[in-house]
Amino acid sequence: MNRSPIWHPFTQHALEPTMKRIVSTDGADLIDDEGNRILDAISSWWVITHGHRHPAIMEAIRAATEAYDQIIFAEYSHEPAERLAEGLIGLAPSGLKHVFYSDSGSTAVEVAIKMALGYFHNRGEPRDRIVVMEGSYHGDTIGTMSVGERGVFNAAYEPLLFGVDRLSFPQEGREQQTLDMFETFCRSGRVAALVIEPLVLGAGGMKIYHARLLAGLKEIAERHSSLFIADEVMTGWGRTGTMFACEQADISPDILCTSKGLTGGALPLAATLCTGNIFDAHLSTDRRKTFFHSSSYTANPIACAAAVANLDIWRSEPVLERIRNLEALQRQNLGRFEGDDRFANIRQAGTIAALDLVVRAGGYLADIGPRTRRLLRERGFLIRPLGNILYLMPPYCVTADQLGGAYDAIDEVASIILERP
Ligand SMILES: *Cc1c(COP(=O)(O)O)cnc(C)c1O
Repeated sequence: MNRSPIWHPFTQHALEPTMKRIVSTDGADLIDDEGNRILDAISSWWVITHGHRHPAIMEAIRAATEAYDQIIFAEYSHEPAERLAEGLIGLAPSGLKHVFYSDSGSTAVEVAIKMALGYFHNRGEPRDRIVVMEGSYHGDTIGTMSVGERGVFNAAYEPLLFGVDRLSFPQEGREQQTLDMFETFCRSGRVAALVIEPLVLGAGGMKIYHARLLAGLKEIAERHSSLFIADEVMTGWGRTGTMFACEQADISPDILCTSKGLTGGALPLAATLCTGNIFDAHLSTDRRKTFFHSSSYTANPIACAAAVANLDIWRSEPVLERIRNLEALQRQNLGRFEGDDRFANIRQAGTIAALDLVVRAGGYLADIGPRTRRLLRERGFLIRPLGNILYLMPPYCVTADQLGGAYDAIDEVASIILERP
């Protein structure tokens, strides 16, 4: 049994083979200590957008280290954070006017929830309910687990998680049911906010729903003066085909959370954007109305400089064109499995492609996930199925050959797993 000194995330050390050591990264590839290339078909857990080590981002990091390390962010500020905030407000859906920095997707969502509760508290109309969607994932802290799906991942912590109201997932054609549920929750007058992953539920299994539903939820939230929190931690930075997924529903959330692709994936950083109303509810000569939140590494200048460079890339390089191309490649490749009875629920949202392996025993704990992952890794592909759900979310620099190779490997491995010749 491997008693690893390092406790790796989401890893059962009693079952995992030893960790593969990576010595460098290049474009869409990881390179291991034997010189093998592994295609990073899931963008290193969804963070790498343009590709590993984009030269402009690496250069911005090097330059920032000439001037900065960490600087306290209360009472003091710095140019990378100022420039980034200005850039984010310019890019984000209209109405988002203020930027609060933290360092991960989980903290971005925690901050969002605290902003929403603080908004109502400071206005003297406390509301105590949060509405979420069935199957959602918002992070691994106690607060974000509370608003996420319950299951084997958080069974041990369940007694301490707070209660939320859950909407059923909007199955195609049954969207009205979800909207009606939300309307009913809101009628209580106690709903502070809806927290939702727009268009795609990521860790919950790459479940995709229609932009219309998102617009419907926003309309209901607005009518009941509940806040709409878009968790764009995964969907942001082009993954679903637009800079932010909310754009496809033509809505502006009251609060938007972003992290993973914010620095192009180079360094940890997160931002929670909010409207003027939410900021103003905390603006007072009464110190009790202060927004009481900080992380030690808030607005790390080097991470902010990396993010500023990322924004420049979006402005100066044809990123959306690359995304269009990747979308088309994904569609083409998925097409070859159409009508193939080894696969079901073939689906796509922008650059994200997913399909279910048709097995008898599904679910996250099924052995099939780790086995599939191992077989794919042996073939040079980093793909981590969620149970029997396979998905590909590569960096935008991936080539047609690389992506085609990943689908060839899936084709081959599926037959091995399903014992089909
Ligand atoms: C990954 C993710 C998070 C959590 O981000 P971390 O940086 O891992 O804390 C939150 N929300 C969504 C939608 C995510 O995909």
